[in-house]
Parts: sequence; structure tokens; C-alpha cells
Amino acid sequence: MKLHVVTFGCQMSAADGGELAAPLLARGFRAAQAPEDADAIVLNTCTVRQHAEDKALSLIGRLRPWKEQDSGRVLIVAGCAAERLGGWIRERFPYVDLVVGAKSIDDYPRLVEEALAAKFDALAESAAAFENIPSALDPAAPIGWSSAVVAPVTIMRGCNYSCSYCIVPSVRGREVYRPYETVLAEARAKAAAGAREILLLGQTVNSWHARGEDGRERRFPELLRAVAAIDGVARVRFESPHPYFFDDALISAISGVAGAGDHVHLPVQSGSDRALTRMRRNYSSASFLSLVERIRAARPSIELSTDIIVGFPSESEDDFSRTLELAERLRPTWTYAFKYSPREGTESAAMSDDVPADVKEERLSRLNALCDRFAEDALKARIGRTVEVLDESGGYGRTRDGLRVKWGSPARPGQLTTVLATGVAKRTLLGESQ
Ligand code: SF4
Repeated sequence: MKLHVVTFGCQMSAADGGELAAPLLARGFRAAQAPEDADAIVLNTCTVRQHAEDKALSLIGRLRPWKEQDSGRVLIVAGCAAERLGGWIRERFPYVDLVVGAKSIDDYPRLVEEALAAKFDALAESAAAFENIPSALDPAAPIGWSSAVVAPVTIMRGCNYSCSYCIVPSVRGREVYRPYETVLAEARAKAAAGAREILLLGQTVNSWHARGEDGRERRFPELLRAVAAIDGVARVRFESPHPYFFDDALISAISGVAGAGDHVHLPVQSGSDRALTRMRRNYSSASFLSLVERIRAARPSIELSTDIIVGFPSESEDDFSRTLELAERLRPTWTYAFKYSPREGTESAAMSDDVPADVKEERLSRLNALCDRFAEDALKARIGRTVEVLDESGGYGRTRDGLRVKWGSPARPGQLTTVLATGVAKRTLLGESQ
């Protein structure tokens, strides 16, 4: 039996893909490279933008013939869109075997067991073969997503913020932190399985805190240092921090950690204080830039990347010009810029979506043109220099500050290698191994 996981959305969603696969892998499923080869498909959905939700729903519809060809096939829909639209999905697509929302991920293994048992009991009664599903863990089954050179470790779920445009708090719930020892155990296991870089994930990852087994409260900077000290871990990164929790203790901690001290993704969303207030981001452009200055004072060579929304309700040309000004001062190495689109159930959905589509489009292209220049400058500045690259997949990897690098042989997956940067193509450094 083969399993294919399709993930829509962010890094956290991608990390959840591993957890969603785990109970099926433990049941003996093996990874299928393509959906058409699979006996089970898990759709890990996203609802942050309408486009992501539409793509997932369209795929569920297109999977109907695949599902109907063989009654033994399993289709599971999980994640954030499943949380928001669960009842509707069950009604609209009755051939889906299991719908599990993001808030129920802790219950997911049990729900999968129940759904498989119900399905295959029913099939067994109708003379179908049950032995296709081995009940014990197959030692030959790939450990899959946990064996990557770069391994995600989710340290918290949910979000206590209420950014006015964001659906996450309503589909993922309030913050829940994984225990200190559990996070370290998972990071150690992934390092032992070959991971060299650990990516700590959470919606506001740096708000993590938890009491250890000794009763002492740990905060994120201590966790970061502890993960970096694990044998075999060469780099640690984290995504996405909230500027509000980026204090001096964290700035000091990142300074001593390879990866975390070389690149930080710091979402700003807008450079206009009026827009930031309406977005309920809990910082001003001045306090954000002051944080950037403190980080750069501690780590002058650090690269920063960011997220920006254009065309938020009532965004004026003046608001947008402040975003451009902030981008000029931030000079992000890369930028995820999006046109605002309202999400039902969020506070901003009640505001008038009054920036015309062509204005949003025009602002997005101006912002992208500016940020593309910063991205290109960062890459070109490396040409002629040697960079340390973690080989992620044989001749492809990233520098300590997160830039993509491609080079020829020799390929050494999982190894740190020195590469002379010789050129740039499609946002990637080209180089020669030294
Ligand atoms: S911090 Fe804001 S944008 Fe990020 S997940 Fe929470 S509510 Fe959404």
C-alpha cells in the first residue's frame, strides 16, 4: 500500500505533513512518488488565502474518479481548511474517508486507526482482502519526512494573537507548547536519522515557553541553544518569529547559533503605522526598525527576509509608500509579498475591501521589483567568494544565511561543503565545490 501526501500552505503545514503521514507509515504504507500510484492520499489543506483553499477543494473534486476506481483507496483531508469547512467538505465530497481539522491533530492517529478499521472491516465483510494492511510497523518502510537533511520540528501550535486579516487563530486555536524534553527528543532523533539542520516551527515560534521536567520554566532562547548543542546538528533555524517576542535574550542567543545567527525571517506586513494598527500587529514601523537595528548591531552580517501584504483595506498611496520606505531600510534578502484578500470569519473581512484589484496588482509589482533588486544584490555580492553550504540533496543546498546554492560534483548530501560562488541564476547561486 502506498501513501501520497499533498501539502498546501506554509512551513508549519509542511511539517504537519510528516505527522499526518506517520500513522499510515506505521501501518505499513510506503511513500508513493505520485498521487496516481497511491492507495492512500492525505490532503494537508491551507486556508490562509482563498487561492490555497480553492486549490485543495478542486483537488478533492478531481480525486473522485481515482477514489471510485477502487473501494480500498483511502482519502483523508486534514489541516486548516478542513478545520474551517469540515462539515461542508463531508457533505460536498461524501467519498472522503476522513476529515480532520487542524485543532484535532493530537487526536489524528486515533481517528486514522478508527477510519481504517471501519473502512476495512466493511470491505472484509464484503469479501475484500484485509491482509493488504499490515498491522505492525514495517521495518523497511521509509521513515520519510523525518530523515531529511533539514528536519522540521514543530514546537507549538495555534496563535494567541488576533491579526485582523488572519484565519489561523480560529482554525488552529490558542497556543499550545510542546514540552521542552519532547522537542529535544524529537530533534535528537532527527539528528540521529541524518538531519544536520533543525527548523523549529510555530506560528509565533519565539513565544514558546514551557516548564521542563525539573519544574523550571524554559523560554525560546534556551530551547534554541539546547537544540544547537545536539550532536550532529550543524545549524538551527526558526520560523516565524513575531517581532513582539524578539527580545535581547533572543538576539544574544541567535548570535551563538549557526543558521539562526545568519538569517532570520521577520514578518513585517506593512510599513504604515495606520495599516499596522488596523492589522492589529502590536508594533509600529519605528519599533520594528529599532528591532532590526538591534539585531544588526549584534550580528552585522545577518540577512533578513520578510512577509508583506499590499492592498489591505483602506491602504492609501501614502500608506504604501511607507511600506516601500521600510523595505528600503530593511533590504530583505527575500520577500513573500501578497495581495490582500479577505478571509471569511476574520475581523478584516468586515472592513471594506476597497483597494481596487488593479491598484493592488500595480503596488505588488512595484514592491516586487524593489525587493527582487535586494534579493539579486545579496546573491551577486557573493560572486567570487567561498560560502559554506549544507548539501541538502546532492549538489543543492543553502548557505548559513539561507541563500540557495547549486553546484556540480562532488555531491555529499548531509555534509557541509565549501563552494566558490561563480554566478547567479533564478534566485540561486551557482558555484564550484572547493
Ligand atoms: S501572529 Fe497574526 S498573522 Fe501570525 S498566525 Fe497569529 S494571528 Fe496569524
